[in-house]
Amino acid sequence: MRGFDSIDRIGVVGAGTMGGGIAQVAATNGYDVVVRDIEQEFLDEGFSAIEDSLSRFVRKESLTQDEADEAMDRIEGTTDLADLADCDLVVEAALENMEVKQDIFADLDEVCPDDVVLATNTSTLSITTIASVTDRPEQVVGLHFMNPVPVMTGVEVVVGEKTDPDVVELAHQFSEALGKETWESDDKPGFVTNRILMPWINEGIRAFDEGVASKEDIDRGMTLGTNVPMGPLTLADHIGLDICLDASRTLFEELGDRYKPAYLLKRKVDAGDLGKKTGRGFYDYE
Ligand code: NAD
Repeated sequence: MRGFDSIDRIGVVGAGTMGGGIAQVAATNGYDVVVRDIEQEFLDEGFSAIEDSLSRFVRKESLTQDEADEAMDRIEGTTDLADLADCDLVVEAALENMEVKQDIFADLDEVCPDDVVLATNTSTLSITTIASVTDRPEQVVGLHFMNPVPVMTGVEVVVGEKTDPDVVELAHQFSEALGKETWESDDKPGFVTNRILMPWINEGIRAFDEGVASKEDIDRGMTLGTNVPMGPLTLADHIGLDICLDASRTLFEELGDRYKPAYLLKRKVDAGDLGKKTGRGFYDYE
């Protein structure tokens, strides 16, 4: 296995909310990054989101303009997965769908040298099931970054049935090199965070749908009443309602009725109102 000290170049699969954030944080911490998405337009959108985010850090004076420019220069985009062949570590952040992730991991297993660790940013899906399509299941690990990656300090390290303890250690070391703090979860549906978060979000949506209170009052009640920074409906919009629905469905399939996705969550996703990323979710965004 390629050790922590020999990791210079990071591959990221998916240039969306999470992939873009992971690429940005890796680049600002000195790593070269290659980001792969399926279409050039998704790469362009991802790169412009990274640029916007870096500009905000410059405005807040947490980065200089030179540091932001250098970080941007360290990130390359590609639509060809084969361009990840010279990466020392790959983090997958594509759709929350087992078939899509297994296809990507089967391809990565072909493209990447045998000693490269393959990580997935999945919110709820089994690391063991994703790893099963590769010839290196002991080198597959969950690196569950939180959204927005450049701001949130936590990373959940998820240990699959076959994940080697050295790979787990590497996942902690790499996260810490990005300025993050880690905790570990066994490979059980939703891990620690989403197992507890998704029922909370769904109950917030149900409370809104069933007329318990306005969406503003549900969010206000939970922020003021339980001292969390965002209420369930605002947080769902930030995560992306499609991601919340996929995550909730996995928990429902694996753990049963108490995790059934809220009806209104499904209706919003069917209508294409996915939250902040489409400009409308429970709230409207410019
Ligand atoms: P997103 O929809 O913003 O981005 C996904 C990106 O992956 C898109 O740009 C899409 O074009 C690309 N993609 C799809 N298939 C691909 C493929 N075969 N190869 C390369 N790119 C491909 O989604 P996101 O919010 O960034 O979520 C990505 C992953 O991270 C999911 O597994 C999600 O569950 C997980 N996650 C999301 C959050 C969150 O708050 N959004 C938090 C933690 C983990």
